[in-house]
Amino acid sequence: MVRNIGIIAHIDAGKTTTTERILYYTGKTYKIGDIDEGTTQMDWMPQERERGITIMSAATTTFWREHRINIIDTPGHVDFTAEVERSLRVLDGGIVVFDAEEGVQSQSESVWRQADRHKVPRLCFINKMDKLGADFSRTVKMIEERLGAAPVVLTLPIGKEKDFRGVVLVLEKRTLIWDEAKDATGEKYEEAEVPAEFVGELEKARELAIEKIAENDEVIQDKYLAGEEISLEDLRAGLRRAVVINKLIPVYCGSSLRNKGVQPLLDGVVDFLPSPLDLPPVEGVNPQINEKEKRETDPGGPFTALAFKIQADPHVGRLTYVRVYSGSINSGQEVFNSTQKVPERIGRLLLMHANQREPIDKVSAGEIAAVIGFQKTVTGDTLCDKDKPIILERISFPEPVISLAIEPKTKADQEKLGLALRKLADEDPTFKIKSDPETGQTLICGMGELHLEILVDRMKREFGVLANTGEPQVAYKETVKQVARAEGKYIRQSGGRGQYGHCFLRVEPLNRGEGFKFLNEIKGGAIPSEFIPAVEKGVKEAMEKGVLAGYPLVDVAVAVYDGTYHEVDSSDIAFKIAGSQALQEAAKQAKPVLLEPIMKLEVTTPEEFMGDVIGDLSSKRAQILGSETRGNLRVITAMVPLSEVPGYATTLRSMTQGRGTFFMEPSHYEEVPQNIAQRIIEKKSGQIIRRGLQK
Ligand code: GDP
Repeated sequence: MVRNIGIIAHIDAGKTTTTERILYYTGKTYKIGDIDEGTTQMDWMPQERERGITIMSAATTTFWREHRINIIDTPGHVDFTAEVERSLRVLDGGIVVFDAEEGVQSQSESVWRQADRHKVPRLCFINKMDKLGADFSRTVKMIEERLGAAPVVLTLPIGKEKDFRGVVLVLEKRTLIWDEAKDATGEKYEEAEVPAEFVGELEKARELAIEKIAENDEVIQDKYLAGEEISLEDLRAGLRRAVVINKLIPVYCGSSLRNKGVQPLLDGVVDFLPSPLDLPPVEGVNPQINEKEKRETDPGGPFTALAFKIQADPHVGRLTYVRVYSGSINSGQEVFNSTQKVPERIGRLLLMHANQREPIDKVSAGEIAAVIGFQKTVTGDTLCDKDKPIILERISFPEPVISLAIEPKTKADQEKLGLALRKLADEDPTFKIKSDPETGQTLICGMGELHLEILVDRMKREFGVLANTGEPQVAYKETVKQVARAEGKYIRQSGGRGQYGHCFLRVEPLNRGEGFKFLNEIKGGAIPSEFIPAVEKGVKEAMEKGVLAGYPLVDVAVAVYDGTYHEVDSSDIAFKIAGSQALQEAAKQAKPVLLEPIMKLEVTTPEEFMGDVIGDLSSKRAQILGSETRGNLRVITAMVPLSEVPGYATTLRSMTQGRGTFFMEPSHYEEVPQNIAQRIIEKKSGQIIRRGLQK
């Protein structure tokens, strides 16, 4: 039996430590690594060890009570929400880890919503019960109120802070005590009767748990209403049914660092999280008839799989992680990439353990493996049988909000740089490479400063490329605020064959985030339909450069509604140029404005620095959304323009004597206030003029 799970948490809640303990207790790693000393098994990349954060997603296989558990690693840092999104697509259940002092933090909240969207059943693990200020019931309450979930407490803490030593199993009515003096790894524990002082609390928690299960499961409800004694097996089965359909959330507590409380959580994975067989069939579109089709989790069914992660492995090359939904595949077999319509051959199939790889011959429905040998497949592609084609829904990724110029240190690095960038972009769909339309410089674009910093770091370490990088630049965009029309004409008729392209365009604002729409409103063949794609191409090219300060134009609809042509001289190229000109002209008249990325920011700081933090944010055009107290800490949430917070990590550190932490993620784009926009535009055109003079 299989469980495909992910471990999800706000940075620093203890995801890495918990994963590490899980791998230890399930017998796959042999030494307890400690994140603070940088020796964990999952985070094998050197810079992850140094930074103590988890970045890359990897699928790790391990076993507990005869069940194969595939752990899909999800990142703990906000700059990598796309990684979370991609993992959520392929996992069937999750463990959400909370810090018992901090409770529900903002990233847990956004990831929770993402998991809701993907209908992922979850268990909660309230970690760090040993920490000063740990509060189990407050965190449970927050899960209920903040996340709108229905928690069912399955383990109660025995003692807290320094005195935390074990848990009461609520359904089983037993206690488990981990005695550090007897076994420092926490693998062994003592099971006992519940001591008298906990009986009252246990009875209350148990009654509440049974009530909740009864409310959400008919079988248990009937017994409950009839006043029957409900067996442990029945309770577990009822709870499982309710968890699988996302009605109830089992809650556990423990301290991963102190090696306590992890085994009951593992039992929970087996007892309550769904197996692939419990889930509804996956849906996709048959591209031949353009109709929806379903695939059951059936090893004998037509082969259907989703590629969810590409990883460049220094030893074996390009690895493609796939989740198989239906059918099976063998190593050496050919499959069909239906998204790109190309055949792909499976060289080898691998099961990835945290510290080793195991070659396997076959993977079947419900399982996850890594493939060596795929050439063209990228993240989000569907793989299937050629004669049973299907395309599963793609994985959606946010657009980059920040960029920086990068150039090789020496001529020798030039080629290596290009190769390294391509490989990294291949792995990470939120990392884009562009060339600056004005300077021709190579730009790398990503989701935040840290994201780009880590990629540059990897380039050095993994690919040995030395590069100079510029200052991070905010990815502004441009849009228009009203409707305007303009004409574009490209006519050359002197001797020989001429050029003739002529069109009229209308541009209209769209809502934020709508992107681009092109409408063909030509009537009576004023422009023959064969030239319309050329007009559209010209429009798109002009949009990349914008009209204010060279930033891409977004959220506009462009209609071509009139034009003329010449029997002999008209060509694609002439219509493309005409389209470009008309677009620029129309956009200039349509009240163009600059848009800037707005980040959602959450700062956690000791009370005494609260005034400074808020004062600083107010001077940065931030909109403070709220603040609340958590223990001795204050949590401030705000929306702030990305351009106002370069190097915020340093700012906050010096403002709070290193005690403040923050979390930031792209939220949306907004119009830049007029006076600031003016400065950005002037600065940009100044750079262009200076560059012109240098030439
Ligand atoms: P991640 O960022 O969610 O992966 O969290 P880590 O596992 O890297 O842990 C972040 C920090 O919290 C590290 O310093 C850990 O040693 C510490 N930590 C993890 N689990 C516990 C715990 O149960 N109790 C205490 N007191 N600290 C913990």
